[in-house]
Amino acid sequence: MRQAVEYCGLKPDRRGLCLCPFHPDRHPSLKIYPDGKGFYCFTCGAGGDPITFVARYREISNAAAARELAAAFSIPLQAPMSYREKREAERTARRRKETAAWAKRAGIYMKVYRGLLCDAIRERNEHFEEGLKNLTWAEYMMEQLEENPEQVYEDRKAVKKIGTIEERVNHWYL
Ligand SMILES: [Zn+2]
Repeated sequence: MRQAVEYCGLKPDRRGLCLCPFHPDRHPSLKIYPDGKGFYCFTCGAGGDPITFVARYREISNAAAARELAAAFSIPLQAPMSYREKREAERTARRRKETAAWAKRAGIYMKVYRGLLCDAIRERNEHFEEGLKNLTWAEYMMEQLEENPEQVYEDRKAVKKIGTIEERVNHWYL
């Protein structure tokens, strides 16, 4: 708050008092509060935060004052987020987390499944045909889960098929 007031060319004393620019003031009646509590004039009742102070002092909008202060004090500006944008960002983050957790688990099962298929082909055991049929798919899916988990997760058919693999692996030797 003090920096914003000084930026406007006013000089608060050590108690944080200065002449109020918002009414004809002969005795300092504008108080600058520490710890981000803003300013208040005991005579005319003007009060607010650093942005509203600069906006009113320079007769510009709050947005313009915010941009000016940000530039003056090298504060990075973030575009304001609407409620909808915030909800959208949260949903995306949640979805990404969900996808990552799913892809990790699916990747583990696909790796086990690939190993079982390789064994089946090598040993020519009762799963030989399944091995021939699914090995290429299993390897392709492992690669996709690693490289494009979001894309795989959006493919409901792939998700469904990978889901059956978990059960397939668990029942392999039964
Ligand atoms: Zn005043």
